[in-house]
Amino acid sequence: MICGRGGLFTTETARNMEKIEELRTLHVLGGTFFDALMSSEKAQAVATGSIIRAMWPVLLDITAGLLGLALGVIVNALADQLPPRDEGPPLPLRAPYCRSCGHLFPAAHWPALAHLLLAGGRCTHCGAGRGWRAPLVEAGSAIGAVGLWRWAGGEVGVFYAGVIVSFIFLLITVIDIEHRLVLWRVVWVSAIVLLLLGGLSPERGWQKTIIGGLVGYGMVFMMFLFGQAYMWVVARRRGQPLEEIAFGGGDVNLAGLVGLAVGWSGVLPAVVIGIFTAGMFSLGMLGVQLLRGRYNPHTPFAYGPFLALGGMAVYLCGRSIAAWWLGSP
Ligand SMILES: [Zn+2]
Repeated sequence: MICGRGGLFTTETARNMEKIEELRTLHVLGGTFFDALMSSEKAQAVATGSIIRAMWPVLLDITAGLLGLALGVIVNALADQLPPRDEGPPLPLRAPYCRSCGHLFPAAHWPALAHLLLAGGRCTHCGAGRGWRAPLVEAGSAIGAVGLWRWAGGEVGVFYAGVIVSFIFLLITVIDIEHRLVLWRVVWVSAIVLLLLGGLSPERGWQKTIIGGLVGYGMVFMMFLFGQAYMWVVARRRGQPLEEIAFGGGDVNLAGLVGLAVGWSGVLPAVVIGIFTAGMFSLGMLGVQLLRGRYNPHTPFAYGPFLALGGMAVYLCGRSIAAWWLGSP
């Protein structure tokens, strides 16, 4: 400004004012920077939160898939070891082993899918292949468990109940396809488990569960008797004994299990779905036989997997099936 002390003073003051202004600017800038930093951290936290939130269902799916894989390993081990052996009485259960040389697999090879990836599914002792059933069952079980988790809609109890029911019917299906047998020791253990599961479930209760089991058993037992009578008539006409064609005794037990799993209201649709899909399958089989020129209307096949399929269909989508059933003319 103007000269003199005042001027000097003014200059000083002005300089000070400038400094103060600088500091203020710095402060403001710093504040803005700090605010920006804080808000970016906040944004980061929010982003991390939303990533976790977004990843959470995927993590749960992966967990369900791993559980399914582990159960698939157990289904394979039981299906290998429970059926009667030609060589003698059944051995005590043990870890997965080579069916060719009896060598126990190392733990890393217990899941057949891992065995397939690590060693081409071949026994490291004798080189024999493990076959396709084990990896297929594991893959199906893993995918099925993810499906069950989604089906259960986040309800852990519903999920585990579904896993147990699926495990039982998967094991019975694998053994029936390979041996044409529904093993009695699988049946009675499963019956106890399914009875407890249904009886303790608040939606089902003991009465509906027990009646379901009895109706399923009784219904297919009647069909079994009719099948026996039909076979007897056909055999007399042909003058020669006939291979079994209708339900066997194992299917009667299995129908009892299906009834225990789905309850009295679901057992009829379950058996009908089983018979219908089995009929479709045998028609397809006859078609193939006709095309190949080897037609045999009495070719036996396992009914069990179709009953198990009907049971699972009603167990998983019982309400939609019931609605369709009641709505259909
Ligand atoms: Zn081997």
